[in-house]
Amino acid sequence: MTSFNFSTWPPQLTPEQLEALTLAATTYALSHGLLYLPPSQSPSNTQPRIPTNAIHAPLSLIPAPFPRAQFQAARELQSVYNVLYARVAMDTQFLDTVMGAEEGVGKADEFTGTLWRGWKRIREHGALAQPLHLGLFRSDYLLHAAEDRLALKQVEFNTISSSFGPLSERVAAMHRNILASTSYFSASPHLTADNFPENSTTSGLVEGLSKAHEAYGVRDAHILFVVQPNERNVFDQQWLEYGLLERHQIHVVRQTLAELAVFASIDPSTHALILTSPTNSSPYEISTIYFRATYTPSDFPSPSYYDTRFLLERSRAIKCPSLPLQLAGGKKVQEALTRPGILERFLSNEGAKWGARALDLTAHAADIRATWMGMWALDSEDVDIAAALDHLPDSGQAQGSVSPGTRLARLKAQSLVLKPQREGGGNNVYREAIPAFLETLPAEEREAWIAMEMIETPRGVNGYLVRASPSSSGTDNGTIEKKVVRVEVISELGIFGYALFREGEVEEREVGWLVRTKGTESNEGGVAAGFSVLDSVVLV
Ligand code: ADP
Ligand code: MG
Ligand code: MG
Repeated sequence: MTSFNFSTWPPQLTPEQLEALTLAATTYALSHGLLYLPPSQSPSNTQPRIPTNAIHAPLSLIPAPFPRAQFQAARELQSVYNVLYARVAMDTQFLDTVMGAEEGVGKADEFTGTLWRGWKRIREHGALAQPLHLGLFRSDYLLHAAEDRLALKQVEFNTISSSFGPLSERVAAMHRNILASTSYFSASPHLTADNFPENSTTSGLVEGLSKAHEAYGVRDAHILFVVQPNERNVFDQQWLEYGLLERHQIHVVRQTLAELAVFASIDPSTHALILTSPTNSSPYEISTIYFRATYTPSDFPSPSYYDTRFLLERSRAIKCPSLPLQLAGGKKVQEALTRPGILERFLSNEGAKWGARALDLTAHAADIRATWMGMWALDSEDVDIAAALDHLPDSGQAQGSVSPGTRLARLKAQSLVLKPQREGGGNNVYREAIPAFLETLPAEEREAWIAMEMIETPRGVNGYLVRASPSSSGTDNGTIEKKVVRVEVISELGIFGYALFREGEVEEREVGWLVRTKGTESNEGGVAAGFSVLDSVVLV
């Protein structure tokens, strides 16, 4: 247990040191592909985009303090989480009940319902041509300051488009480099090389993709990245592409759903996914589809986009993620797993064939459960309000048709966040905004939301956040403004892992980590959504 005093962080920084660090950090970032595309001038441009300039990704100057024990614990738990979510994705009945459009959250949430109906139609037509699924996962955590100790608590588990692995590796390398080069290392006894854990996330994620490619078994097939038309985080993806080619001689092709509607087809006899493209004279086969799009409704501007997504699902290519694995990442699944007995059922030691090593899953169920905050469904009828309120009497508000789940959310609003079935940041409702939100939420939409207790992070930690953005002064086209702010911060740790799996078999590994840091004034996180910056850790 660490006795680190978070409110002493970071060590003193003179204005000269701040300037030297900012110069060193931004120069390092620009030299090492720690980059972002600037906001597009012409968002409707659908031509393949040839970039003319780039800015460094939003970043933190000084790494975030994180207790060594909790950091190690998060990494060690990742293998259990990898298997857990692989098994959830293979449990059709569980997903139908929790996420489906007949019994589950898909009734109330149109996007979830549409994805689920597409998957159901495919499996009922016996058109699932590929038994293997690939997941590139990221499990996110905050430190929870409870009863004088710090506990590791999970924010969410991502099964689709888990981003920022490669850029995080570069931020960790940047911190090691700039703290040495500016002599700032001497500013704190904590800033020593062995408190900076290694970060080799890129090769780990690439390994996951290459395992799927190998399992598919056609050497000169390509891997398809399905991307958003105006993606700014292209360099993060590009590092995976370089890794696949340089380490594994695997070619990548990037296409949007709109392009795939034109260029993708399925070979009727082999079910292979075939891409034709004007830039490639002969069509080629796709071994693996890596989705860096399709996680949000705005990726589907018309119904035909869903047809394209379902065509990809029907093909023999290995999907990262398949539709059931995408559904397994729903916030509702996270909540359903906390119900009595469910986790223990998924973590049975029976019936699993493992790669080279054996995991005692059952023994880890309690450790996994210990990373969870309280969660319940807003439409829940069986929340024990008296127990949840430590036996305080119910305040006796107008109750009418309001479910116990919603009533409890009202009563405990100040310590809660409400989450819908969405990814990508900016969708949650926090604390004092909850009561008014519940007033306006139609009863039939309650089922789409979960309530989760807020993780209360240690306070008093400060950070220096550096952002580059195009100048807002209208005429000054092309000028980049740099902002450095010192603010009180919250840092969120993410652990990456992959799992390649089919019924009865999972090959998986923990492959790396990231830290995103945000000002405490923002409830939300998310680098791409503009709330956070990329960071790394100093273990304390
Ligand atoms: P998304 O899938 O959109 O990223 P998250 O569940 O990660 O949704 O929520 C977004 C952000 O909201 C998180 O990065 C975190 O900063 C904050 N957040 C979410 N849940 C909690 C929680 N229980 N306690 C504290 N902060 C939370
Ligand atoms: Mg998140
Ligand atoms: Mg998410």
